Amino acid sequence: MNSDDFPPIPFLDLKAQQARIGPGLRARLDAVLAHGQYILGPEVSELEARLAAFCGAAHCVTVSSGTDALQIAMMAEGIGRGDAVFLPAFTYTATAEVPLLLGATPVFVDVDPHTFQIDVAGLKARIADVKRGGTLRPRAIVGVDLFGQPADWDAIRAIATREGLFTLDDCAQSFGAALKGERLGRAADATATSFFPSKPLGAYGDGGALFTESAERAALFRSLRTHGEGTTRYEVMRIGMNGRLDTMQAAVLLAKLEVFEGEIARREQIAGIYDKALADVLKIPSRVAQSVSAWAVYSVLLRDEAERETAKAALQAAGIGHAVYYPRALHQQPAYASCHDGVPLPVAEGLGRRILALPIHPDLSDAQAARVAAVLRAALV
Ligand SMILES: *Cc1c(COP(=O)(O)O)cnc(C)c1O
Repeated sequence: MNSDDFPPIPFLDLKAQQARIGPGLRARLDAVLAHGQYILGPEVSELEARLAAFCGAAHCVTVSSGTDALQIAMMAEGIGRGDAVFLPAFTYTATAEVPLLLGATPVFVDVDPHTFQIDVAGLKARIADVKRGGTLRPRAIVGVDLFGQPADWDAIRAIATREGLFTLDDCAQSFGAALKGERLGRAADATATSFFPSKPLGAYGDGGALFTESAERAALFRSLRTHGEGTTRYEVMRIGMNGRLDTMQAAVLLAKLEVFEGEIARREQIAGIYDKALADVLKIPSRVAQSVSAWAVYSVLLRDEAERETAKAALQAAGIGHAVYYPRALHQQPAYASCHDGVPLPVAEGLGRRILALPIHPDLSDAQAARVAAVLRAALV
């Protein structure tokens, strides 16, 4: 096939989405320009109510990014020096960066070779390691819902209850996903999500949100996102941060929320097209049982690094967007080398050499998805 006959296929197409939601989006932005309340304007509280209703959580507090959501949740819990925070080694850097910024120690846990989610047996073993070591206090588990799929929250919660640990859901990639019929947002003591433009529900800039069932926690989140303020503006109760979501971003998100359910359904269809076309030539994503994925990422596994290079080269030559999440596990990154205890995490270490993400945005057509699959098949068979 001559690639000149086909236009390029972008990894993400936010312009197509913008064209689709144009009128509603502009009306929302015009409303903000008209009232001029750029910080904590009415769209922010409207969005919080809508997001809470969407995932069934009692409270939603929007914040300035997914990273700040993680930080505010850990600050509210008082996590700091001497605390061990258990988290998967195969995730975005923010998950591990935040405990370190607060003086705590991330303890890396291996992931499941099929779903890529935190490995439950590994989690138990790592908690035992820390207890035996005797220098750190087990304090929190950050379960990451990787690539749009939920982590094994029943198992994580059971371990946390037994060990007396705080649970934080890093749901940055998976807002809109569901486990056993319930949308993520209440699976952990607190849930943090991101509205970075490429996430399933993305703003036109940075943004994030926290969800919790606890009114006290929600009040702390609100205080912390505005410099630790009390019930009156210039009463400073605690050290916080400037962590608010802009009204403009809230307006964008309100417009996008209107089409969000349909977009998740569309991503599921595309995943189905890839599954059918590719299952016999590579390892398609394994589904977490009883879940609905938000399909932030559709990642396949090739046999080895050489085969992945072949696949990448073919996609590149055909003008098809692709990405590697993540080339290295976090404990293999220079910044985290000194805080890892040296325990091997073989699954996380191996995935970085074999994984490859294909385009899965909601504006990808059936024909485009078929073309991506055909190019891959031609390269691999
Ligand atoms: C994107 C992401 C974050 C950080 O979100 P930002 O909004 O970019 O700060 C945190 N954790 C995971 C797993 C992510 O994918």
